[in-house]
Parts: sequence; C-alpha cells; structure tokens
Amino acid sequence: MKILILNSGSSSIKYQLINMPSEDVLCKGLVERIGSKEAILQYKTDMVSLEETQEIKTHKQGLQKIASLLVDPKKGIVGEANEIQVIGHRVVHGGTTFSAPTLVTPFVKDKIKELFALAPLHNPHNWEGLDLAEEIFPQAKQVAVFDTAFHQTMPVKAKKYAIPEQFFEEHNIQVYGFHGISHQYVSRKTMEHLKKPKSKIICIHLGNGCSMTAVVDGLSVDHSLGFTPANGLIMGTRSGDIDHSIVFYLVETLGYDLKEVNRILLKDSGMMGLTGFNDLRDVQAAAEKGDKAADLALEMNAYRIKKYIGAYVAAMNGLDAIVFTAGIGENSSELRKRVCTGMDYMGIHLDVLANEKRVAGIHGIHTPDSPVKILVVPTNEELEIAKQSFQLVSLIR
Ligand code: AMP
Repeated sequence: MKILILNSGSSSIKYQLINMPSEDVLCKGLVERIGSKEAILQYKTDMVSLEETQEIKTHKQGLQKIASLLVDPKKGIVGEANEIQVIGHRVVHGGTTFSAPTLVTPFVKDKIKELFALAPLHNPHNWEGLDLAEEIFPQAKQVAVFDTAFHQTMPVKAKKYAIPEQFFEEHNIQVYGFHGISHQYVSRKTMEHLKKPKSKIICIHLGNGCSMTAVVDGLSVDHSLGFTPANGLIMGTRSGDIDHSIVFYLVETLGYDLKEVNRILLKDSGMMGLTGFNDLRDVQAAAEKGDKAADLALEMNAYRIKKYIGAYVAAMNGLDAIVFTAGIGENSSELRKRVCTGMDYMGIHLDVLANEKRVAGIHGIHTPDSPVKILVVPTNEELEIAKQSFQLVSLIR
C-alpha cells in the first residue's frame, strides 16, 4: 500500500511516499517558501534528485506540483495518482477530541477547525493540507495523525494547571503536549532495542522545538510542553519555563504590548535571546571560540534538561533509559555530554568516547556498567504517521 505523508506548514509542505508494510521510502521532498517567487521544490527518488527554484503562489499549487511529479512519465514513481491509496497528515493539535489516528470526514475536519484557536500557527495549515489533498487525490483515504494524541494517557494530576476549575472544565485549559508522533516512535524503538516492553524511559526531543516525555510501558505519563508548545526546555527562540509574572511586568511596568511580549518570548528568547544565535551549531562554535555567553547558554540549556530528568525519575519512581533524538539530540555530542555529566547519583554514566562517535541508527552511549542506558535514537515522524495510517486503514478495510 502506497501512503503519501503530508506535513503542511505555514509556508511549506514536506512529503514522503512510503510503501507499507515494507516501510520503503519511494520518494521524499518538500516545497518551501510558498507564496514567494523563489519557492523551492525538492523531489528525490532512487533515480531522480531535483531541486528547482520557481514561483509557487499557494499551497494548492505546491501540492499540485508534487502530485504531477509523482505521476510524471519520466521522473514519477507511480503510474497513476489513484495508486496512492492513503494520505497520512500530520495535524499538530487534536485537543481533547482526538486520542488516536482518525479517518478524515467532514465532521473531523470541522473539529480540527474548532481547534484553530489552540494552535493558530499550525492547525490552519494542517487543515488546508487535508482540504487540498481531498481535492487533488479524491480516490485516497485521508488519515489525520495528531501530535497531541500520544499525551492523552497522561494522568489528570500531570495534565491540570492549578488555576480555577472552570478553566479546565469549561475551556479545556490543560497540558496537551506536543511532538507526540516523535516521542511515540522513539519510545517504541527504544523498548524494542532494550527488548523491554515494561520500561521507564525519558525521551528528550531536541530540535527547533524541544520537549521531554516520561514514558512508562509505552505510555506518556508526563511531558514538558503544555497548553501550547512554549514551556519547559530552553529552545532555539522560545524561553521555555518562566515565571508568568514577567509578562505582567513587561506590560505594566516596562510598557510593552501583549503582541510584543508574545514575540519576545516565542521568537527572541531561548538560545537566540541568550547568544544571538538560534541554531545550536552556531552557539557551540561561539562557545568553542571562548564566547562566555554562548558557553553559559549551553550550560543553562543542559541544566534545564537535567532538572526535568530529575523530576521524571521521581514521577516514574525509576528509570531504564534516557533517549536523545531530533536535530540537536542526534547530533550534538556536546549538549549530550553536558546533560549526562554529574548524573551518577541517578545511575546515568556516559561513555565519553562512544558519545563522540558518529554512528547511524540507534546506538548506546552509556558505559557497560551504567544502570541507566543512554541511547541516541533517530526520530522518523513520517514513518510513524505511515505506520499509524496503515494500521487504521487495514482495520477498517
Ligand atoms: P530538527 O527540528 O529536528 O530538524 O532540528 C533542527 C535543529 O537541530 C537545528 O536548528 C540545529 O540547532 C540542530 N542541529 C542540527 N545539526 C546539528 C549538529 N550537527 N550539531 C548541533 N546541532 C545541530
């Protein structure tokens, strides 16, 4: 079964065509900078690799370009569009409604629309992707896979904020959690690797956005992002945890308006605010050259992660493995070292040499006698969406 995976963002569409259940990636690519005269179209199969710069005005045009490349007589990978039987969509926010992958119907689309207010930067674009895919691939079944769904298993004591009850009951203000598709994939891969389905794992997803999940026996029991993807760890441009009184101080005493405060905390903070760089590679390069602010920012970043490890060990009453994933987690031996140093009391012993080695795929970076395993597990959200879509469609066929 050929499944097209779509991840539709504000100005981009990422896609992969995956054969299931063999998991072969037949083609992958992206359309970037939609809306500009210099949009980029990437398309890659075993035989063809192309990157073109051209005007792509709308998401619809972008998806049409992808569709025509897929069936192109020379460059294409399928004979006709109707060979694509399923389209799996990443949808960021499923609110309290969606706790599993869901076949898209008009009702489901309306529900996703109702959640625009909770994820204004993501859900409208995800919804548009669904709508366009229905139009361009009318023969295919559409499946929505939600980033929040994995965290629905969190107990209420972890989900609720200590604010008046009405905000939870009437307005659904609670921890939703994000990056769930990645955390689910990575924690399952870890359990398979450890050959331990009953296990206590801390997944540390460090990419453009950063989050941690405490996973017991495959279920999310606590998570660092909250009502929106803003709190918890220090990220590229987001502050993570702060005292919310700072917002009032910025507005009432320093005279900023709320829009500016929102921008400051989401776009100008995190590693960017501390160092002037949002990409961790630049921060590390600056620290290596002796930049003290960059070194301190790395230390603060690692320290926040350590504190969450401590909290989640307490929450789970134990720990089998900590797992690093995503762009930073998979590539930055420097940050991993800073996180895992001085954690002996927790049974976390890093093998410093193994940590420095570049290894593809899942690998351990702990010492042989370390009670807690430290793993690097490459994430693969597209494959997770393909798996969940395949399972759902196979069940209802
Ligand atoms: P992701 O969101 O998973 O694609 O991660 C993107 C982020 O990973 C980038 O913004 C970089 O900060 C970080 N990154 C990628 N490669 C490296 C590397 N070799 N060393 C440190 N950080 C990296």
